[in-house]
Amino acid sequence: MADEIDHGSEEFADARQEMDQLVYDSLKSKEMKPNAMFARLSDLAKSAKMSRTAVTWARKNSLWPLQFGLACCAIELMDFGSSRIDAERKGYLLFRGTPRQCDVMVVAGWVTKSMVPEIKRLYEQMTEPRYVIAFGECATCGGPWWQSYNIVKGIDEVLHVDVYVAGCPPKPENLFAALMKLQKKVGGSIED
Ligand code: SF4
Repeated sequence: MADEIDHGSEEFADARQEMDQLVYDSLKSKEMKPNAMFARLSDLAKSAKMSRTAVTWARKNSLWPLQFGLACCAIELMDFGSSRIDAERKGYLLFRGTPRQCDVMVVAGWVTKSMVPEIKRLYEQMTEPRYVIAFGECATCGGPWWQSYNIVKGIDEVLHVDVYVAGCPPKPENLFAALMKLQKKVGGSIED
């Protein structure tokens, strides 16, 4: 691990820097700080000499989505949490309230230009590697509002998208399928 990290004036503004420092401090003092449990798996793996296969397996089976919605597609996101879908059987229901504990952003709803800086900030605060699912027509291409002056024509103009989900509104079942596809992608069994 590199020498002590210089955080500059904006201390711990960036999740990656914060995690780097926590892991560095823990390894140096040989004491694991409670927050270090959220450190990047790759760093812990390096220190524990875990194999790449074990890291990939753990990563693809522990997707942590961010609790976050933008418009009516967020209602479908809520339905995704219902017993009808039973997303918990795959461990997909651990929606977290802070981006620092998440690695999957489900963009549910239209993206206004004024929301772009906030979405980027949330994305940058998520732990790496991080993934994006464009959930529904609005997040994919602007949907019914694609000609509006204040709507971004797809979140892929702002962030790299890993999986797209079609529909207006998109079905919660399709979000389940999208997460399964993302798992395959993280596991390396399908390409970008
Ligand atoms: S895709 Fe349809 S349901 Fe989803 S946010 Fe856009 S208008 Fe609403």
